[in-house]
Amino acid sequence: MEIEKILVEHTGAPETTVAGKQRRVAAYCRVSTSKDAQAGSFELQKNVYLQKITAHPDWVFAGIYADEGVTGTNTKYRTGFQQMLADCEAGKIDYIITKSISRFARNTLECLSYIRKLQSMGVQLIFEKENIDTGEPFSEMLLTVLAAFAQEESRSLSENLKWGIRKRYQKGIDRWTRIYGYTQTEEGSYRVVPEEADTVRQIFLLYEQGQSMSEIVAFLHQHQIPSPAGKKDWSASSVLHILRNEKYTGDILLQKTYTADHISHRTVKNNCTLVPAYYLTDHHTPLISHEQFAMVEKIRKLRCPGGSDGNSTGNPVQYPFDTLLRCPYCGAVLRQRHIPVQQPGRGWLCEGSPKSCGGFLIRSHFVEQAVLTAYHTFPKEQLAPADSGHAAEAEHMRAFLSAHPRLSRVDYYWLSRLVDSITFGRHIAQPQNGTACDRTLYVHWKCGVTSCVPTGIEKEKDLPSYVLKRYRDWQVRNRRKNENHTDCPNP
Ligand SMILES: [Zn+2]
Repeated sequence: MEIEKILVEHTGAPETTVAGKQRRVAAYCRVSTSKDAQAGSFELQKNVYLQKITAHPDWVFAGIYADEGVTGTNTKYRTGFQQMLADCEAGKIDYIITKSISRFARNTLECLSYIRKLQSMGVQLIFEKENIDTGEPFSEMLLTVLAAFAQEESRSLSENLKWGIRKRYQKGIDRWTRIYGYTQTEEGSYRVVPEEADTVRQIFLLYEQGQSMSEIVAFLHQHQIPSPAGKKDWSASSVLHILRNEKYTGDILLQKTYTADHISHRTVKNNCTLVPAYYLTDHHTPLISHEQFAMVEKIRKLRCPGGSDGNSTGNPVQYPFDTLLRCPYCGAVLRQRHIPVQQPGRGWLCEGSPKSCGGFLIRSHFVEQAVLTAYHTFPKEQLAPADSGHAAEAEHMRAFLSAHPRLSRVDYYWLSRLVDSITFGRHIAQPQNGTACDRTLYVHWKCGVTSCVPTGIEKEKDLPSYVLKRYRDWQVRNRRKNENHTDCPNP
């Protein structure tokens, strides 16, 4: 919104107080911005008010104040208006005539506040169009009615404001909020803060390598890195906030939240059903890659038993194996669940898909131990030479083995990069080393090598009868629960 020029004409109010019933009366007018009309408009209005005031026997002309501008212009740019207020304060004016409320202020609410302010200085107003003289006793009731309209007006103003913000979002203009790792340049773009950027990268790396929130918090404490709020210690939620912020990839999701209503000005999360969201790529310098961000997002979902939002229950805890494990009987992907079988209480089960046979169960820690053993006994001599089909994967494996001679736990970041799949004895016809048996776990590495590790695999028939009974009972309960929640109750 642009204000081209502001007209102020002040003829100079009398300095001395007027005796008797006489009132010093000024006029305030707003001039239209349409270029052809405006030249005459101001003169016309001025003459009308001059005649009107001088024609009145009890009135003394106290000046004309005028602004040129569009409706809705902020009062701080209305210098004519400001001058008038100053002269009122200086006691030079008793009455102000103006055409209408809409010419006097942006809205009824603002108008009411100016009326109160001027009345406190002993200045009254006359609105010609509304036929209100604030000096008359009856005007108080009219002002009360106006106040009621102001409420409704506030609603539509709020709508306009939101509309304006949404328009800016559509154009890709972000409302700057402080984000750890960046600072704002004078032009409003993002500038990287090197030390903070290093911390952001470190947090992503640690999480990707399987560190828990509390381990990352401990790491930051150990390295004496202050939190985004400048505190000594980080909270898990501030770490999570960084891990979930797409801005570190150089992208921006605009209109993440919006203001729901004009009374509470409550901010709600945008689920894109009512208000569109806009996603901008390559908006500023990234701190991490899209791949790493996606990886972290995937790990977060694998780790979280209740799904990404934590509000649904019963989702399997797949971290860090995801879909690597398959049933030796039917080949279906195994799901990990908390099961009431034996401590430590987590196991891989054949269930969850229509083709799952439901006949396989293995406790998680057996799998984890066997996979770690497979890594630590990896036969380096079997790695393919440079000219073979798996040359790149073999090189990657070789580099990883020398960088990490010992691994203390199974984590998604290396498992997903090195391992193609994991199977159990029965489905391997011709293993490359060792012999096929029911108590064997096979790790099929991406570099083309298969490791064979004897393990304490349990199949149903190997479970002690009391454990098996509990497993069966659990299966029945679980099935019934799933049936009760089916979407399609048709026979
Ligand atoms: Zn199966």
